[in-house]
Amino acid sequence: MAKAEFEIPELKEYPEIPPIQPGSMAHSKPFVAKNPEFMEPLGYPAELVDDWQEKAIEHMGDLLGKYRSLQVFLDACVKCGACTDKCHYYLGTQDPKNMPVARQDLLRKVYRRYFTFAGKYFPKLVGATDLTEEVLEDWYSYFHQCSQCRRCSVFCPYGIDTAEISMAAREIMDRIGLGQKYCNEIIGKVFKVGNNLGLPEPALADTLEGLEEDVLDDTGVEVKYPLDQKGAEILLVTPSADFFAEPHVDGLIGYGKVFHEAGVSWTLSSKASEAANFGMFIGSYENMRRISLRIREAALELGVKRIIFGECGHAWRVAYSFLNTLAGPFDFLDPKYPVPQHILEFTWGEIQKGTLKIDKSANDHMVVTFHDSCNVARATRMGDEPGGQFTIPRNVIKAVCNNFVDMDPDTIHEKTFCCGGGGGLLTDDLTELRVKGAKPRMEALKNVIEEHGVTNMAAICAICKSQFTKVLPYYGMGMDMIVSVHQLVSEAIVLTGQDTGDDDEQEDSTEDAA
Ligand code: SF4
Ligand code: SF4
Repeated sequence: MAKAEFEIPELKEYPEIPPIQPGSMAHSKPFVAKNPEFMEPLGYPAELVDDWQEKAIEHMGDLLGKYRSLQVFLDACVKCGACTDKCHYYLGTQDPKNMPVARQDLLRKVYRRYFTFAGKYFPKLVGATDLTEEVLEDWYSYFHQCSQCRRCSVFCPYGIDTAEISMAAREIMDRIGLGQKYCNEIIGKVFKVGNNLGLPEPALADTLEGLEEDVLDDTGVEVKYPLDQKGAEILLVTPSADFFAEPHVDGLIGYGKVFHEAGVSWTLSSKASEAANFGMFIGSYENMRRISLRIREAALELGVKRIIFGECGHAWRVAYSFLNTLAGPFDFLDPKYPVPQHILEFTWGEIQKGTLKIDKSANDHMVVTFHDSCNVARATRMGDEPGGQFTIPRNVIKAVCNNFVDMDPDTIHEKTFCCGGGGGLLTDDLTELRVKGAKPRMEALKNVIEEHGVTNMAAICAICKSQFTKVLPYYGMGMDMIVSVHQLVSEAIVLTGQDTGDDDEQEDSTEDAA
């Protein structure tokens, strides 16, 4: 089990609502983006501005004017308490400020003070407070303990979305010069190099060549992983973790095999070599738009007809919900296909058409369960039917695996728990939060391991895959339990002309017979 300098929550057979431990996570704060290099490219001041109170209120007013939903969410809460035990960070940390309603109140009390009649004249009566240094500290700490997963909104009778409140708070903090290093550094790299990792074009080309060699060695088939190929039909936009991290890269190998067997031409782009869009995590429409525009530019330059997104939860949320608004219109693409399309929609389509030869027994050594990524589950859809974001991944897994088991129904589909590392929190300075926040998912996973012999958990999000790889060992489980859905596809596909070893076996048995 991985070593921890904090107490790891005990996993229970049934989920329990833990007693509160006030202030237990007040110390949890991500590194501040102190270097101007991490703030200025995003259009933010390099450090906390002198008149930060005044500016923060001004920015809050600006957001309230732009986003009607924000004001409705701040006004509508009736303190019914239905959301209090629905956040994985509360369940894992026991800090009452991680109850969604309490998190919202951190912003709400300041909103009331400066933007409501009662709050201006009778602040104590309506729980309104001045924006003090102490309040700002709480904002920085607890709005970075929300992965913007929207689970609480599923249970709120008014549909109040804490994710939007936490995005607004983060944007206000950025605008006064109190940004988070992890997210802002990554956005800067996307602007400069094209991806979160700062992986330049030659390194990317080299990595893809290496993948082609690996697949050739394994299968005897020349599967291409093209980069910047003008005139290709499909532009694949995928998280940069797919280029090198495990198990992400096995998913990328799978996408290539599916395209190869489907007989379509495709390409990756060095300009848009990143599906992730951390602009959403910091609540910045402008940064989200700048990141999205790279995809439009790459599609136009390469002359593609379709855009397909790889396995990345929040990228699919931005793509599905906002891409057309942010970077459209995409009227230069082929109108026969959705803009954008998810790789799972493509693969499921090919499976249904019978294009792919599948040997499910290749995955017989596994009993697989599936983690619904929060962004995909609660902010997007796949296919033409409601709930396609739940059925299509499962259909694909069942088409390539003989052994599949779902986790507790209260922890999947629209009620899925975040992995604990979403929303721009996948950084080592938040390890304690990430480990504790993963508790509800770990509990459900442990139960299916014990009851059904589950050996692996599949996911379709780069953040989930990295987060689980990190936190599984803290709970005594193997980091390699986590697999990409297209890794399972990759294992089961039999490529046309693939060397399956059957000939060798036949030769051996002929020799034996002789
Ligand atoms: S959006 Fe998710 S992380 Fe944020 S308060 Fe709600 S349940 Fe918790
Ligand atoms: S469930 Fe909705 S209305 Fe009830 S306390 Fe939570 S945010 Fe407020």
